Amino acid sequence: MANEAGHDQDLYKKRIPIFPRSVKGKFRSLKWSILFLAYGVYFLLPWLRWEREVGPQQAILFDIEGRRFYIFDLVVYAQDIFWLAGFLIIAAWLLFFVTGLAGRVFCGYFCFQTLWTDVFMLLERLIQGERPARIRLFKSDWDANKVFKIGLTHISWIGVAFLTGLSFTLYWGDAPELVSQMVTGDAPFPAYATTLFLTLSTYVMAGLAREQVCTYMCPYARFQSAMFDRDTLIVAYDESRGEGRKGRQKLTKALKDIDVRHEQGYGDCIDCGYCVQVCPTGIDIRDGLQYQCITCALCIDACNEIMDSVGYPRGLIRYTSDKVLQGEKTRIFKLKNIGYVVAILATSIALVWSVATRDVLELAVNQIRQPLAQTLADGRVQNSYELKISNKGTHTTRYRITTEGIDFGELDLANFDEVSIAPEKNLRVMARIRANPATVEQSKTLFHFVVTPLNQTELKPVEHEAWFYIPQKQLEK
Ligand code: SF4
Ligand code: SF4
Repeated sequence: MANEAGHDQDLYKKRIPIFPRSVKGKFRSLKWSILFLAYGVYFLLPWLRWEREVGPQQAILFDIEGRRFYIFDLVVYAQDIFWLAGFLIIAAWLLFFVTGLAGRVFCGYFCFQTLWTDVFMLLERLIQGERPARIRLFKSDWDANKVFKIGLTHISWIGVAFLTGLSFTLYWGDAPELVSQMVTGDAPFPAYATTLFLTLSTYVMAGLAREQVCTYMCPYARFQSAMFDRDTLIVAYDESRGEGRKGRQKLTKALKDIDVRHEQGYGDCIDCGYCVQVCPTGIDIRDGLQYQCITCALCIDACNEIMDSVGYPRGLIRYTSDKVLQGEKTRIFKLKNIGYVVAILATSIALVWSVATRDVLELAVNQIRQPLAQTLADGRVQNSYELKISNKGTHTTRYRITTEGIDFGELDLANFDEVSIAPEKNLRVMARIRANPATVEQSKTLFHFVVTPLNQTELKPVEHEAWFYIPQKQLEK
């Protein structure tokens, strides 16, 4: 496309490749620890076995076909899906709270994109070497060495991406069985499709797109600034210290001593560029807070390493707030933060209470409406109901079915008043109530079906309301 001056101009900015340098420091170590923990949980959890009286022996299993999720001892049914809503609400509150308090720590330490890109960069570095070697390789002509190193890098990325995709698939079926089915070609098609999709997306996102995902694709990068305020913790370059009166200055023999630098008006930044070289998004933190910054704090480690080597105090780049940089005090205890804490606690307590007090016995009543009321040969009126009793517990349970609030009616369950239901099963029972119109005063009577567990005394009976109808003309006879 031509611009106003008539020159050809690309619609999209060409990506400038980034070759981050490795760095050592406490934030890098913290990030590795979180990464090992996250990978350990993600890759090993599908293989963790779990003893259950009924159901699969896998600790975490999302059984789509059976419409239930197994999470250790908790079995989540389709109708419990509002727990997921509760969980997502808590996650959203937590994200708002943490972002307001500590900026984009989620991006820098916990986001999948960061965790997987870190490993892909590590593989790249192990195969191709440190930053200068990678730049040289990138600029060199294609030869056997370049083909080998670049090829091996991509193969290793695809290997990690495949393990990632496969592990995700294993959460949706019995892991050992699913793996053997996939090897023999007997696995269901969605298992192959999911693995392939996750393999490709991981390879593209963490291997090829990398920082572009954070910069252009992630919506959080765009709206997180709405949660920031002047008290929010950010990774910041201390400009007044780094620049002094005359600006940053390279380290020379004459300008090595910090006091001499200060006397001559120079700041503590020796303009070594290490903070820029380690940045996974390729930005210069000395230009101020930028939306591309994922707050990974690697530039803090880099600058601290430089400060140590020249004998200057650490913290030229550090976690701080805008207020501190302006000589004010950071305020944590303010209405917004307290409000978030209250909201998180209230929603968490409600969710835990809902899970802890969940019913393992469920009763649904559906009145048969065609016909709503039937007049029998002996003059009595009959209403019919379909009862659905679900045993969501882990033991076979016997139940007695009775009614309350309809003394004039006779309950007919087809010659039985007790049923036995296996764990995780449900049973449909046809119930009929008959009454002599002469004993009934109104055309509509509200009553309850009651289902009482018999062999598990710790379980409470459940009730469900229903209506008994008698046509008005029957009452008037
Ligand atoms: S500027 Fe620093 S904290 Fe921000 S992304 Fe780059 S290295 Fe990480
Ligand atoms: S690492 Fe520190 S000293 Fe070096 S350029 Fe960055 S801010 Fe300046």
